[in-house]
Amino acid sequence: MRGNVPAYELELAGTLDEALALVEAGFLPFAGGTDVMVVLEAGKLPVARYVSILGLGELAGVEVDDQAVTLGANTTYREVREHPVVAAEFPMLAQAAVESGAIAIQNRGTLGGNIMNASPAADSPPALIAYGAQIELVSRQGRRWVAYDTFHTGYKQTLAKPGELLSRVRIPRRPDGDWRQLYDKVGTRSWQAISKVCFAGIARLEDGVVREVRIGLGAVGPTVVRADVTMKTLFGQRPDAALELAAKVAMASDARPIDDIRSTAFYRATVAANLAAAFVRALA
Ligand SMILES: Cc1cc2nc3c(=O)[nH]c(=O)nc-3n(C[C@H](O)[C@H](O)[C@H](O)COP(=O)(O)OP(=O)(O)OC[C@H]3O[C@@H](n4cnc5c(N)ncnc54)[C@H](O)[C@@H]3O)c2cc1C
Repeated sequence: MRGNVPAYELELAGTLDEALALVEAGFLPFAGGTDVMVVLEAGKLPVARYVSILGLGELAGVEVDDQAVTLGANTTYREVREHPVVAAEFPMLAQAAVESGAIAIQNRGTLGGNIMNASPAADSPPALIAYGAQIELVSRQGRRWVAYDTFHTGYKQTLAKPGELLSRVRIPRRPDGDWRQLYDKVGTRSWQAISKVCFAGIARLEDGVVREVRIGLGAVGPTVVRADVTMKTLFGQRPDAALELAAKVAMASDARPIDDIRSTAFYRATVAANLAAAFVRALA
């Protein structure tokens, strides 16, 4: 049963201050609407007041400086995948954008909405975890930066407080070095399919030894996660067949999937282990 559109209120905020005042008063942010509208269409959106934030210049644009690339929360998938610095330096994020939804969703869906919707199966969060992103939250009380890999605290639970909007996502640029990356979204199809497992891993090798490594995972637990046990297993090692096996074993501690409508826990755990092994091969 569809939601009754006239039962909903949607305010258009002209400035960030206006939006923050409305959010503080209990209005929910509405960016691209590609997650919100699905719930509305299913008749499951609790009657509520929304504030449209998509037009806010303060939440738009991609800034590049020597240290970091900073994306406004309203950056769409299309803008992410078309940005030359993102594509060159953060190819896993660009690939997540390429493989999210299809063209219409990519024109409308935003990075901020993907983060704040807090789905454990979302496709850009594993890349953001792997890249060590930070996110900025803003309210009428001020601004604060949060390490993204600490942000999701439980199923659909985050560190965001009432009255806060996500404003920016900052990804540190990496110094030169032998960096290797692997992003793989495993789903029923490459596009228009929700991930069964999503893997994003990056590592720096020095003389054939893993000197830095970060891995983000999606759809293997109640939140997107950082694969700490697998990261520890790879750190300081040479990628070889023995390390592939060790990575598969370690992944069983990081990936704790469930059975649901899209897949089984067994399939997801097997795929996550195979992706950990594939990552080691990519490093070798
Ligand atoms: C057909 C289809 C295919 C899809 N495919 C994929 C896919 O492949 N991969 C994937 O990860 N997702 C997919 N999605 C989900 C969705 O498109 C993404 O999660 C998208 O990034 C949501 O962004 P949005 O701007 O549309 O968010 P909205 O729907 O506007 O908002 C989503 C949630 O975030 C909140 N919010 C939005 N912006 C902010 C902000 N700045 N601060 C605080 N809260 C905010 C809203 O209140 C709401 O709770 C798909 C959706 C559809 C309909």
